[in-house]
Amino acid sequence: MAANAFDCIVVGGGPGGYVAAIRASQLGLRVAIAEREHLGGICLNWGCIPTKALLRTAEVHHLLRNAASFGLSASDVRVDLAKVVERSRRIAGRLEKGVRHLMKKNAVAVFEGSGRLAGPGRVVVRAGTGDEVELSAPHVILAAGARARSLPGIEPDGQRIWTYREAMVPESLPASLLVIGAGAIGIEFASFYRDLGSEVTVVEALPRILPAEDEEISAAARRCFEKQGIEIHTGAALRSLEVRGDAVHAVVEREAGAVLERDLDRAILAVGITGNVEALGLEGTAVRVERGHVVVTQWLETGEPGVYAIGDLVGPPWLAHKASHEGVLCAERIAGVAGLHPLDASQIPGCTYCRPQVASIGLTERAARDAGREVRVGKFPLSANGKALALGETEGFVKTVFDAGTGELLGAHLFGAEVTELIQGFAVARTLEATEAELMRTIFPHPTLSEAMHEAVLAAFGRALNA
Ligand SMILES: Cc1cc2nc3c(=O)[nH]c(=O)nc-3n(C[C@H](O)[C@H](O)[C@H](O)COP(=O)(O)OP(=O)(O)OC[C@H]3O[C@@H](n4cnc5c(N)ncnc54)[C@H](O)[C@@H]3O)c2cc1C
Repeated sequence: MAANAFDCIVVGGGPGGYVAAIRASQLGLRVAIAEREHLGGICLNWGCIPTKALLRTAEVHHLLRNAASFGLSASDVRVDLAKVVERSRRIAGRLEKGVRHLMKKNAVAVFEGSGRLAGPGRVVVRAGTGDEVELSAPHVILAAGARARSLPGIEPDGQRIWTYREAMVPESLPASLLVIGAGAIGIEFASFYRDLGSEVTVVEALPRILPAEDEEISAAARRCFEKQGIEIHTGAALRSLEVRGDAVHAVVEREAGAVLERDLDRAILAVGITGNVEALGLEGTAVRVERGHVVVTQWLETGEPGVYAIGDLVGPPWLAHKASHEGVLCAERIAGVAGLHPLDASQIPGCTYCRPQVASIGLTERAARDAGREVRVGKFPLSANGKALALGETEGFVKTVFDAGTGELLGAHLFGAEVTELIQGFAVARTLEATEAELMRTIFPHPTLSEAMHEAVLAAFGRALNA
């Protein structure tokens, strides 16, 4: 076999690509991966992990400011922003090194540079120096990810108008901040900056924040953020955003035609993402691109024989665990593993790491009813959970949605402290196609926040014990 001939080439080393490479290697394939920036992709370097490091600082800051409620006193609590950012970057750097080690351990050949299709079974990788190397393989997995989308007429300048990248490495804390877009990324930054002391305004075009979440969760989260001092405008369209000297001038049209005009220190554009489809050599191939994303079948095949695509490149939900799951599935399909199941989007949990957190899986109550299901809904407040009281984190609730006829758990929606750690219980339940009967007889440890999950199941059938 020639030195640059492989069984599988992966273009892009994010959580989709590097996981696909490891799984393919585990299955005995000879694998190469091309990465143009950092192994670990957006997730480890500019997404999931560095934001969670920042949000942890915000959480500790919040606890310190509320030390008195725990019988402690902490005075002179100050934010050293350079150190906050340095901690976040250090954690990201450590993980990047970890992925590099995993590539070595799994005998995946790493090629640093930008990869593009160069004919059937061929990929050319161009390094920063301009040097090119040609690789060949019968299977190519495109895992090039995505980048921040902007709005027509609004270009982030990286100084006053940020994308998530600049928002993650601020040099100073903005006194006032406009967050455009109230999806998970926008809300996480709103929460971080508010907890550190910025005046935060959120503008969302849709009628509610966290629009993918259950309506009751969105409403509760909104009330809570407003109580924290975040100003929120939904059903509001950004008309213009201009840098004026040292400030950003925003014009926002609100419901009923009212106009909000304001000068702010900084703005963050968090209005979604678009696939990195441009530099992949797709021209002249049968790979189809729609609305900025590569179109794939349920087995992640593109229209071009032997070319697959996964992760953010193929569209929402833009989540690292979805990308990784697709990476595993794609590698197993290529290796001919038997008994595979296509990804079921209703099994993908979604988490937002604001304070308090939001987590969900499956159908919202409205989606279940709209789908014609007769539902039983259970709710349990964290204010009635002993562990939540002990933690001083009583805001929030757990909501379950069951099919009234079969007892199938259709969806679960959580708002409160650490719920991003709890949702996995419901994810396992859905994978195992659990009904209310199994969930009810599961023994939950006491005292834990997870007991609120049990109670929300019991509540759907009129059997809650502690409310
Ligand atoms: C601020 C922020 C916070 C987030 N928080 C979360 C979270 O908490 N949980 C969650 O699940 N998701 C989160 N996400 C989303 C998550 O980061 C993505 O869903 C995930 O990274 C997608 O993985 P991927 O492998 O498809 O693409 P990416 O992680 O984007 O990786 C693609 C890689 O391909 C490389 N590449 C692109 N083109 C080429 C080319 N031609 N040749 C070689 N290399 C190329 C890029 O450099 C990149 O490293 C967050 C995203 C952002 C922006």
